Amino acid sequence: MKKKVLITGAAGFLGSHLCDHFMKKDYHVIGMDNLLTGKMENVAQLMPLENFEFYHHDVSKYVHIPGELDYILHFASPASPIDYLKMPIQTLKVGALGTHNLLGLAKAKNARILVASTSEVYGDPLEHPQSEEYWGNVNPVGPRGVYDEAKRFMEAITMAYHNFHGLETRIVRIFNTYGPRMRMNDGRALPTFFRQALAGENLSVFGDGQQTRSFCYVDDLVDGIYRLLLSDYHLPVNIGNPVEITVKQLAEEIIQLTDSNSKIVYLPLPQDDPKVRKPDITKARQILDWKPNFSRAQGLAKTYNSIILQS
Ligand code: NAD
Repeated sequence: MKKKVLITGAAGFLGSHLCDHFMKKDYHVIGMDNLLTGKMENVAQLMPLENFEFYHHDVSKYVHIPGELDYILHFASPASPIDYLKMPIQTLKVGALGTHNLLGLAKAKNARILVASTSEVYGDPLEHPQSEEYWGNVNPVGPRGVYDEAKRFMEAITMAYHNFHGLETRIVRIFNTYGPRMRMNDGRALPTFFRQALAGENLSVFGDGQQTRSFCYVDDLVDGIYRLLLSDYHLPVNIGNPVEITVKQLAEEIIQLTDSNSKIVYLPLPQDDPKVRKPDITKARQILDWKPNFSRAQGLAKTYNSIILQS
């Protein structure tokens, strides 16, 4: 019998790559999504396959799946600042009620659940790089609080189900990830820079562009998540690429890669924008024997090729 996995947020960027991965590994995959920010195109390649099922459903409402389940991966949530600022209540609901529903389902099915947390639980960090032991610096009532606190609650309730009900749980703290199927208009720096460079528009860098980010190519992230799911480690694990660059440097690299005549313009820094971001991946290395394999040059080139093919 094939192992059965439920993936929420399946029609989104990361969820669809996870669906592809589990299908390749010969699982029976059930994708679930309410298409709030995702699109069916992302899973169109899987729809004709016998071992793929898709449910159009809002996971903030009761979730029912017939039969047995081995694993649940909870990735449903608006994820970019533009999305969660536009949909603050849905963001809080899917992090809180959605996670609660899926933990309940995992308990009923005796399944192992992995939840998608984020480096945003570290807020505007006062420690650098960020290790899993750092508790973060989050403003609960600032604009980003709706996302950051939803994810912090997600981690807390997941730990409660582990400690109180003995549920098998995994928590991944994902750092900025990029690759094919990112939405070009989701407001995140990397796809925005690609869109602007290709349209010949100026690239909008916030602040002086000296804030740093660390970008992980999607295939590396998926590999890390798969290893974590199959590990026996229940505390949070950072998955991200520790190679750090300034946002200005990223803009310059994308202008060069796309051979664009665009210039950089500087806009005011949004409130509570993190000044630095870099994962400490010691745990992932030691526990999962994982490290990123794609350099930024390779990952950006693959992403660029996929954008060209789409257009
Ligand atoms: P995405 O917007 O592409 O995908 C999210 C998916 O969730 C979409 O398909 C959306 O329709 C679906 N969704 C939202 N609310 C839902 C609900 N109530 N019920 C069912 N489906 C719902 O975003 P993404 O970048 O793929 O992010 C996926 C997950 O990974 C999110 O939980 C996000 O917080 C987390 N994450 C992503 C990154 C990153 O760099 N991409 C970083 C940290 C964490």
